[in-house]
Amino acid sequence: METLRVGSTGPYVKLIQSLLSRIGYNPGPVDGVFGNMTRQAVATYQRDNGLASDGVVGPDTWDSFLSILKGYDEYRVRPGDTLYNIALRYYTTVNAIMTANPGIDPNNLMIGQNLIVPYGIDVVFTDIDYTYTIMEMNIMALQARYPFLETGTIGTSVLGKNLYYIRIGNGPREVSYNGAHHSLEWITAPILMKFIENFSIAYSNRQSIRGYNLKQIFDSSSIYIVPMVNPDGVDLVLEGLNRDNPYYNELLKWNDTGRPFSQVWNANIRGVDLNRNYPASWEEAKAQEAELGVTGPGPTRYGGPSPLSEPETQAMTKFTREHNFRLVIAYHTQGRVIYWKYKDIRTPGDLRIATIFGRATGYAVTDTPYAASFAGYKDWFIEDFRRPGYTFELGLGVNPLPITQFNTIYRNNEEAMLLAPII
Ligand SMILES: [Zn+2]
Repeated sequence: METLRVGSTGPYVKLIQSLLSRIGYNPGPVDGVFGNMTRQAVATYQRDNGLASDGVVGPDTWDSFLSILKGYDEYRVRPGDTLYNIALRYYTTVNAIMTANPGIDPNNLMIGQNLIVPYGIDVVFTDIDYTYTIMEMNIMALQARYPFLETGTIGTSVLGKNLYYIRIGNGPREVSYNGAHHSLEWITAPILMKFIENFSIAYSNRQSIRGYNLKQIFDSSSIYIVPMVNPDGVDLVLEGLNRDNPYYNELLKWNDTGRPFSQVWNANIRGVDLNRNYPASWEEAKAQEAELGVTGPGPTRYGGPSPLSEPETQAMTKFTREHNFRLVIAYHTQGRVIYWKYKDIRTPGDLRIATIFGRATGYAVTDTPYAASFAGYKDWFIEDFRRPGYTFELGLGVNPLPITQFNTIYRNNEEAMLLAPII
């Protein structure tokens, strides 16, 4: 990780600010600007943790932060230890330790035995820029804390980043949610990740959420979540264009808007709009490009040289074909609407389920607008599988939606995510 000091800016400054405030240090607002308050908080943290107290986040301080962000400690049981005492020492709960270490006998800890001890803070932060690296850390942390989750990859992006999936549940009723096809819409990734965390916390505590019986959902269903379909694009938006990007010169040319990538870039790293790259009336989407002002690779709405030209869409179609999804939801922003239709193809329960989702979210259920009518993931799913597929447009405002909308959006959408597998 890059060294951070007074004057540094960006998503990783936000990350350490959010972390410091969570563990009781006051870095000032989580704004991505490393100022004097952040320096002071870092210095105090360093002093408390036996690090050189210089207020600069260099390799040693990063290591210390990363071990907290990992979400757990590996602990070797010593004479006299009890789970209760270990939990107290780590500000966590006995149940959290039991969950992370299935099969241990709490009344018969073995000296020298290794335990995973989760820290008492959530791993998915919801007040920061959610880069690929942060998501990856969070996935590893959730997997360690909640071994009943299954995690894996469905492929890799143009730049070789993993396209992760997380599976909740082990039942036969399969559904799938995905986020961040569009780079500017990255907030959909932490929405899905937070759902995974909240489900896992409540499930391991044998609690319900909104009256839903999580054990019943877990046993009857499998929810496959791909939180970030377009990690290269998300990082371009959040981290800016790096000199070592292999498409550096092309990207500068492709972004002919005169505005920064952080405000305009919705495509993958080759300038292809992934949600116009699926083989469902791809030619019609192509035919729209001229009137939408699209001439080639660029920030938005270029459907690529051919259907499924991109590794991200190839991975999504392959993954979808390998499963038996009863329905899928693709998460986008913005507009607070649910699109349920593709052309005139009707699928069993499509509008009825959309109406239930509409009630659960408070979002309007509408027909798909002309400029988004073809070659999207849900279009392809509806056409190929003749089962219901939905696009949820979360939140209101201008993309990228500010992270301050996170709580509202999450609250609006949690129930639909619980409903979908059992509807
Ligand atoms: Zn979108």
